[in-house]
Amino acid sequence: DTIGANLDRAVATWPDREALVDVESGRRWTYAQFAASVDELARGLLGSGVRKGDRVGIWAVNCPEWVLVQYATARIGAVMVNINPAYRAHELAYVLKQAGISLLVASQAHKTSDYRALVERARPECPGLRAVHYIGDGSWDELLAAGESVTASQLADAQAELSCDDPINIQYTSGTTGFPKGATLSHHNILNNGYFVGESLSYTERDRICVPVPFYHCFGMVMGNLAATSHGACVVIPAPSFDAAATLRAVERERCTSLYGVPTMFIAELNLPDFGSYDLSSLRTGIMAGSPCPVEVMKRVVAEMNMAEVSICYGMTETSPVSTQTRVEDDLERRTGTVGRVLPHIEIKVVDPATGVTLPRGEAGELCTRGYSVMLGYWDEPERTAEAIDAGRWMHTGDLAVLREDGYVQIVGRIKDMIIRGGENVYPREIEEFLYAHPKIADVQVVGVPDEKYGEEILACVIPRDPADPPTAEEVAAFCRDRLAHYKVPRRLRILAEFPMTVSGKVRKVELREGYGE
Ligand code: ATP
Ligand code: MG
Repeated sequence: DTIGANLDRAVATWPDREALVDVESGRRWTYAQFAASVDELARGLLGSGVRKGDRVGIWAVNCPEWVLVQYATARIGAVMVNINPAYRAHELAYVLKQAGISLLVASQAHKTSDYRALVERARPECPGLRAVHYIGDGSWDELLAAGESVTASQLADAQAELSCDDPINIQYTSGTTGFPKGATLSHHNILNNGYFVGESLSYTERDRICVPVPFYHCFGMVMGNLAATSHGACVVIPAPSFDAAATLRAVERERCTSLYGVPTMFIAELNLPDFGSYDLSSLRTGIMAGSPCPVEVMKRVVAEMNMAEVSICYGMTETSPVSTQTRVEDDLERRTGTVGRVLPHIEIKVVDPATGVTLPRGEAGELCTRGYSVMLGYWDEPERTAEAIDAGRWMHTGDLAVLREDGYVQIVGRIKDMIIRGGENVYPREIEEFLYAHPKIADVQVVGVPDEKYGEEILACVIPRDPADPPTAEEVAAFCRDRLAHYKVPRRLRILAEFPMTVSGKVRKVELREGYGE
């Protein structure tokens, strides 16, 4: 199916079920109403001259219009480009030019970002950008008004022209390890992935999914929006950007059955001073994904957030995104200690990163994936595409993983994050998992920093539970001694109030390394 055809099916099957709720503004849409709003916008795009294959940018914090743009562009085959809401003017200009965006939809302002001012600054550099429409002001109404002359049959014709293998979306990676890369994805790529993720969670039209993760990232737009429409579920937007209290309030008020988040979001929610006062009894399931999911945190989510069926997903933007997922019926060990099994119709293998030779089960190596989910390529970057996807269509993930005998996968860490201390390979993840149990530590990241004697030394960056009583370097080392091999014990400590993060909620270890010693 194309994404538009999939929406048609949802409307035919569940016309009166709720599709989308925006908690902050109180606006809500049933599937029938949602499709009507999508069509109105799709006609507006056609009336503005947007055609199949044209790039339409969306630069916005989470709001219903984001989702409307997603489906309206898909209806007419325009390629939606998700732009990171944290970007500044020069990064925006880069994406506008790199992707050749002709029409941009943007938020007006949010927190410290004045999007209107940033667009005006980037615009002189981008002659290809014909039109900008801001959500919630007159220019948005103009976009809709442009569609008044477009008939329903013209819209139907536009959709009928599409094939599910057409590119429909350029999604930039999080930029955790460097400059973000634009993954070009087809209807087939992301719609199937959304469907199978929803199936693993047994979604039905009774499910209500609280989505505090950004739509600009695959987690929100595929695992949230596309999973919902494929199964008749409802997407609940708690706030324009992540807010732990607003998220739990939305779960309570909207009786959500599913809650999404990267690990740091769940940690923030569990650590809210008034955590115990929220009614989370409606929750059943949810997804934790995006970066390593600490076992301790998973256990707390199961026990304290009523999410007995919570699932971990592993994947990357380039693979639509999910490759492996834990399932509702998995036991606690598998559900908290692994990233699950491979999704249907996807293949995985673990290879020696140096030689490319497939390793036996149980041995750590680079995870490679293949199947419908592998992107078409990086937009306009054939060389980088060829580095990532080999001749056999295997995507090389850059992640170290173990494929266990039982078929469950464990992520060891990113190849780029591995620390080599005095010739020994050290995986930050193992030390982080261990330090989560320290009573004075709320959150922790381990990185390697240059060291004259050992090449690299291990630095623990810690957010203390009580800022007035942080652990000392000696306490942390003493906690690890006798329980971790001596070469894994962090010799250096940095106390922080927060970590440098990507908008998708990942810790930028690069910055933790670079910032050390300043
Ligand atoms: P960039 O590629 O720009 O440096 P990024 O890799 O963080 O950024 P994404 O595509 O958002 O961009 O994230 C994919 C990566 O996130 C994976 O390659 C993996 O390293 C990590 N990841 C995702 N899910 C999990 C998980 N469940 N456990 C551990 N790591 C995960
Ligand atoms: Mg990546």
